[in-house]
Amino acid sequence: MNENIVEIRNLRKGFDKGKITALNGIDLNIKKGEFVSIIGPSGSGKSTLLNMIGALDRPDEGKIMVAGYDLQGKSDLSQFRSREIGFIFQLHNLIPNLSVVENVEIPMFESGLSGRQMREKALKLLDYMNISDKASRKPTELSGGERQRVAIARSLANDPSIILADEPTGSLDSKNGDMILNLLKDLHDKEQVTLIMVTHDLKVAALAERTIEVLDGKIKT
Ligand code: ADP
Ligand code: MG
Repeated sequence: MNENIVEIRNLRKGFDKGKITALNGIDLNIKKGEFVSIIGPSGSGKSTLLNMIGALDRPDEGKIMVAGYDLQGKSDLSQFRSREIGFIFQLHNLIPNLSVVENVEIPMFESGLSGRQMREKALKLLDYMNISDKASRKPTELSGGERQRVAIARSLANDPSIILADEPTGSLDSKNGDMILNLLKDLHDKEQVTLIMVTHDLKVAALAERTIEVLDGKIKT
């Protein structure tokens, strides 16, 4: 299979009424099942680009098709986000007053699964990430690496076709960072998921099949 799951043409995004140009004409295709890393200096537009792909924010101009959804058009963006996208952030973004397993269930609320089915699936995902023994703990009782494993489990809740990871190892020491990277790479190899990972670490980026460099809101060629 060689179809593009991401197609971006001349994508532009500014902030502060155009005083800041975050994306200055991005053209990018990503194939289904590809593992791509996005590198570039701080402030170059990497997170903005990832947020556009995940429809967390809307572009000002350009065309962006992801998994068959036209993100500039009339697509149902909340359906797109919950069905197609799993997001992993630098700081896991787990909800502190919910247990680990409840955190993993959150994205499933609109899936039509029963409470029992959600619990079963969440525990299975935690098991997959080797952390089911912490299912009833609160995120604050976990180490950074463990929290990030929970965040990966949560990102898989709705069997996404694309996982977007923004500096997933940025807050971890190198041992935990390596573990998380290996988990992500395994996931990509086994589940045929498309993995798009932002990092500023060239060594981390080198794990991907292809590296894209963003500079001043453009892709460096
Ligand atoms: P990176 O992830 O590569 O560090 P970002 O995509 O976060 O870069 O940011 C690109 C540019 O857009 C930077 O100048 C940043 O300050 C600006 N920017 C990003 N998000 C916002 C926002 N919500 N409001 C205002 N400016 C923003
Ligand atoms: Mg960023």
